[in-house]
Amino acid sequence: MRVLMIAAPGAGKGTQGERIAAHFGVPHIATGDLLRDHVSRETELGRQVKQYLDTGALVPDDVVLGMVREAMAAAKEDSGGYVLDGLPRTMDQARSVYQLAVELEMTATAALHLRVGEDELLRRLLARAEQGRSDDTEDVIRRRLALYREVTEPILDWYDERGILVSVAADRPVDEITREVLGALDVLASVADHVPEGERRSIDLTGLDAAFGAAR
Ligand code: ADP
Repeated sequence: MRVLMIAAPGAGKGTQGERIAAHFGVPHIATGDLLRDHVSRETELGRQVKQYLDTGALVPDDVVLGMVREAMAAAKEDSGGYVLDGLPRTMDQARSVYQLAVELEMTATAALHLRVGEDELLRRLLARAEQGRSDDTEDVIRRRLALYREVTEPILDWYDERGILVSVAADRPVDEITREVLGALDVLASVADHVPEGERRSIDLTGLDAAFGAAR
C-alpha cells in the first residue's frame, strides 16, 4: 500500500496517516514531523529550516525531497509501502515525487484527500495552539491555510485524472473516517493489480456526508 496524503493543515493527516500506516504495516513518513525533529535535535538541516517552519512558509524543495528520498529508499528495503504525509504540497513537488517513485518502482496506489471546511480547520488549529507548536499562532495558521488553498489544493485534479484520488469528508468522528478510508484504499489496491493507470477511477466519499448527515 502506497499512499500520498494531501489535506489542509488541521485536517487530520497525522492521525489518519498513522492509522493507515499501522493497518497496512508500512511506514508513516510525515515531512512536518521529520522537519520538526531536525529542529529539536538542532541538526544542520534543522537550523536551515527553522525559520520556514516558524513562519509557515514552505521549506525549499531540495531539502524536503532529499529527506523523503532517504525515507522512501528505506521503505523500499522494508515493506515496499508507505504513507507519505505532507508531501507533495505543490505541483512541482508532485512531479518530483512521482519521478522519485518511478525510479524506485514505488508509484502511489492512492492519493488521499481529507476534506474539511475552513472554519473547522481554523477552530482545530487554534485549539491545537495550546500545545505550543511554533507555527500554531493565528497569523501563521492563516498563512498556512492560504498557502494550502493556493498551491496545494490545485494538485488534487492531477490525481483525480489519474484515477487514484480518494476524497473523504473529514469533519466527522475519527473512527468513521478511518473505516471508510481503509475500505476505499482496499478497493484501489485491488484495482491497481489489474487495471492500468489511466483506466482507474477515483473514489469520492464526500457525498456520503450529505446523504447521512441528517442521521448523525
Ligand atoms: P500542517 O500541514 O499541519 O501545517 P506539517 O507538519 O505537515 O503541518 O508541516 C509543517 C511545516 O513543515 C509546514 O508549514 C512547512 O514549513 C514544512 N513542510 C512540511 N512539508 C513540506 C513540504 N512538502 N514542502 C515544504 N515545506 C514543508
